[in-house]
Amino acid sequence: MPQTKILLDESDIPTHWYNVVADMPNKPAPPLGPDGKPIGPEALTAIFPMALIEQEVSAERWIPIPEPVREAYRMYRPSPLFRAHKLEAALGTPAKIYYKYEGVSPAGSHKVNTSIAQAYYNAQAGIKRLATETGAGQWGCSLALAGQMFGIDVRVYMVKVSYNQKPYRRSMMQTWGAEVFASPTPNTVSGRKILELDPESNGSLGIAISEAVEEAANRPDTNYALGSVLNHVCHHQTVIGLEAKKQFEKVGEYPDMVFACCGGGSNFAGTAFPFLADKAAGVAKAQNTRLIAAEPTSCPTLTKGHYAYDFGDAVGLTPLMLMYTLGHDFMPPGIHAGGLRYHGDSPLVSQLYHEKLIEAVAVPQVATFEAGVAFARAEGIIPAPESCHAIRACLDEALRCKETGEPKVLFFNLSGHGHFDMSSYDRYFSGQLEDYAYPEHEIEAALHRLPKVGT
Ligand SMILES: *Cc1c(COP(=O)(O)O)cnc(C)c1O
Repeated sequence: MPQTKILLDESDIPTHWYNVVADMPNKPAPPLGPDGKPIGPEALTAIFPMALIEQEVSAERWIPIPEPVREAYRMYRPSPLFRAHKLEAALGTPAKIYYKYEGVSPAGSHKVNTSIAQAYYNAQAGIKRLATETGAGQWGCSLALAGQMFGIDVRVYMVKVSYNQKPYRRSMMQTWGAEVFASPTPNTVSGRKILELDPESNGSLGIAISEAVEEAANRPDTNYALGSVLNHVCHHQTVIGLEAKKQFEKVGEYPDMVFACCGGGSNFAGTAFPFLADKAAGVAKAQNTRLIAAEPTSCPTLTKGHYAYDFGDAVGLTPLMLMYTLGHDFMPPGIHAGGLRYHGDSPLVSQLYHEKLIEAVAVPQVATFEAGVAFARAEGIIPAPESCHAIRACLDEALRCKETGEPKVLFFNLSGHGHFDMSSYDRYFSGQLEDYAYPEHEIEAALHRLPKVGT
């Protein structure tokens, strides 16, 4: 029997997170305040604990993982790496396909890697409540779980369309003790502002962020937690790539291509950045490894957005970040990969993309489900619709290898399972799933409303 499951020991759980800033050819562009001037760390103290702010601005290559966080990671880490022998056979490709499975976390996705860390640091700082947003519900579940572990009350603004479509994600959050609201709500100034313009608003991630930030900024006992985009979130996710490298060492391979789906960018960052560390350190086998972010054609932030200063939320409460953006008030179509419907992208991922150290592809919705179903039939695991984007990009490469005969080593991160997304699979099976055309005019219009600062 060929080896299909590559496991590590608990002692192999990383002791440090990797910070890509130490290896970037150019320093990250600073966030700007409303006056267009760089903001200092103190501007963030109303909503984040100092330990996370320090990580946000850190240039240290290695950030120690506190022992209570490693202890919590032990619940599901190290996560397994699989060699997809059956999928390779089904495709008839000479490529070797590996995937790491983050769906083993109790909430079902990679997001728990950072929610545990964020809840821990907030608890250490004496914070009693965390406000946050969630799109598809994955982040809300991850933070609800972590809040429960560290004794923090969690309040989740859930994008209304998902609140109605994904009642079981809501129940999961409630099971872990969180309070969940359908955003936009009438409870916040931001929510009321949106509802005045459109009482039927289905909400968006950008709007839900505005509501959660507003609540955190107005209450001293409450902080805000973000599930992606920010530097500290990207650092926390590097446990994925760091473990994967050890697993590849065990089988004596190194990936030629690394794929991860990209919403706010932390999943991609966590998977790919540790391979950039090898490139920067001059590791010979890493030099030609390509790192590829997979995003939806309907929300094509990296492949069709502008590299510009923009707000992280819809209303304009956050600092301005230099990133690829579709415009902070761009409303992405209601695709089923809710975790990928974000107008912006991590500033770190954006800058590395801008400097051509990483690549991106956009894939259409129906083809992602086709890939997800092919994967599930070969490998057994039912992937989250978000993860199906990485699978699609990887399968396309495996099929190219079939034509050229190249036995490339392909690696993707399977960021979560799709057990709460079966209604989306239903729509795929009944032929009701659509490919949204690239919403060129709406993106164009939203880009005209970018704040005029910085660049
Ligand atoms: C949220 C989510 C993503 C997107 O993650 P980012 O870090 O924001 O890019 C991918 N896969 C799953 C399963 C998710 O829940």
